[in-house]
Amino acid sequence: MRNWKLIATASLLISLSAVAQQTAAPSSTSTPQTTQPTTTTTPAAAQPTTMDQVVDRTIEREHALMDFLKTRTPLVETYLQNLKLDPQLGPVPSQDHYFLGRIDMAESVDRRDYLSKDSSFQNRLMGGFSKLFKFEYKPMGFSWMIFADREDFDRNHYDFRYVRREFLGDVRCLVFDVTPKKDAGKGRFIGRIWVEDQDFNIVRLNGTYAPRPRNSDFFHMDSWRLNLIPGYWLPAYIYSEEGDFSYGAKDTMAFKAQTRIWGYDLKKNEQGGELTQIRVDSVKDETAAGDASPLQAERQWLQQAEDNVVERLQNAGLLAPEGEVDKILQTVVNNLQITNNIELSRPVRTRVMLTSPLETFSVGNTIIVSRGLIDVLPDEASLAMVLSHELSHIVLGHNLGSKFAFNDRMLFTDESTYQNFGFRHVPEEEIAADKKAMEMLKTSPYNQKLDTAALFLKELAARGPQLSALLTAHLGNNFTDNKGGVARMASLLNVGPALDPNKLDQIAALPLGGRVKLNAWDDKVELIKAAPVAITSARDKMPFEVTPFFPRLTRIVSGGNTGNPTTAANTVQK
Ligand SMILES: [Zn+2]
Repeated sequence: MRNWKLIATASLLISLSAVAQQTAAPSSTSTPQTTQPTTTTTPAAAQPTTMDQVVDRTIEREHALMDFLKTRTPLVETYLQNLKLDPQLGPVPSQDHYFLGRIDMAESVDRRDYLSKDSSFQNRLMGGFSKLFKFEYKPMGFSWMIFADREDFDRNHYDFRYVRREFLGDVRCLVFDVTPKKDAGKGRFIGRIWVEDQDFNIVRLNGTYAPRPRNSDFFHMDSWRLNLIPGYWLPAYIYSEEGDFSYGAKDTMAFKAQTRIWGYDLKKNEQGGELTQIRVDSVKDETAAGDASPLQAERQWLQQAEDNVVERLQNAGLLAPEGEVDKILQTVVNNLQITNNIELSRPVRTRVMLTSPLETFSVGNTIIVSRGLIDVLPDEASLAMVLSHELSHIVLGHNLGSKFAFNDRMLFTDESTYQNFGFRHVPEEEIAADKKAMEMLKTSPYNQKLDTAALFLKELAARGPQLSALLTAHLGNNFTDNKGGVARMASLLNVGPALDPNKLDQIAALPLGGRVKLNAWDDKVELIKAAPVAITSARDKMPFEVTPFFPRLTRIVSGGNTGNPTTAANTVQK
């Protein structure tokens, strides 16, 4: 744990100073793609003096947000865990579900799914839950999750009652209870809104829909927005929860779910790329003096395939741009390489996939690890365990996906990425990579700390059967077999102490969302700097579990700088 943090801190500092240097340099060629919204805050408008005027301004800002998001097609991911009561651990996951799609936020909110092509899979995945969750696919359901009311958020349909002032993070808010007027119709928002007190944007919504129409359910949701660009607070996180485990309760439905929205700045149609976006940082190819030798040509060909795939995944909203988290992953890869005397013709790179399911894969010499997996890994040794497996595929020459060097193979819709890409290995290669990885770990500094990596796999073995959606890899190989048994690095299951939930010093796997913070606007990822909270009971561990969101709200520093939201956010946090 300590080592992970040490390296993390070191790398954080490096990347932050790098950012600072970039900003200080005279205007570089790659200007940030942040489109400065034309209708930002209206400084000319007089500040409201009464609560009625505040409400009017809030309604106006909500409609401005809807307008601003009309041209946007962000990704939306929901990960849901059904719950059952465990006498010792409290409510624990009994089954899980995963949804990933792209929403078009034009006039009516429209959704296309990354996973829907294989409908039988989708049906199986959703099981008996599909009926219950169907509302989510309807525009109204989504408009509720993202906005208070997409159609009729106004005084004719709602009453607003001022409650109090309250700080959410650094941001002072005015809190209002919002209730639908009589005869306002079905499915209206009822709950509470938090409105920041400078421009009067809604920053948090908490409540549900009422009255409930027959044959459908509206869930309780807590929806958070972040100030990632000047003037707007973008919907980023939604937590939902249902169920009552108190004695005698008869609630049959019990679940908790996290919804994340990102990719607001993704281009709506990548094919129509503008000339201004062509990068000019490598005008002249100076890699070789003459023609490439056959071996050089082979390597360049593989490099081209690798670059194509990485770029395509990033354009589809599935991969974070290169950033500070990569540096941490790369440090671990370097440690493995140096102590094992591994020299490769091309450097190994690492990237973060933005989705929650636990997965890793490698394309050429690029290792890709999902955000969800980085979240739940307990320490650096377990991260090394994960990376050593992919590094072994690279060392053993398993990644010869040269067909992606042909650019026509990159021409598909973002939503069909999972149908067009796949980087699974045959079982023989998996076994060989596991064997090689164990050798690497034994020769590395992580050899002394493999107990936690082993505990992680034991926890995976214990929880695996209930978490099939979280453990379904979409581009790489699964950690578990189809019955939830651990398939990767299984020889580690014989190492170290047995898993014991009651041992509070045994942290085998963390809850989701605890490590990696994703910027919903530009898809950059960074590590969360949250102070560790002491665990006081077995229930506090929550391995692989979903928890509520409580982001620290903060305003970006606007005006004068490049307008790069992430840089600004970093500055604020530092
Ligand atoms: Zn593998």
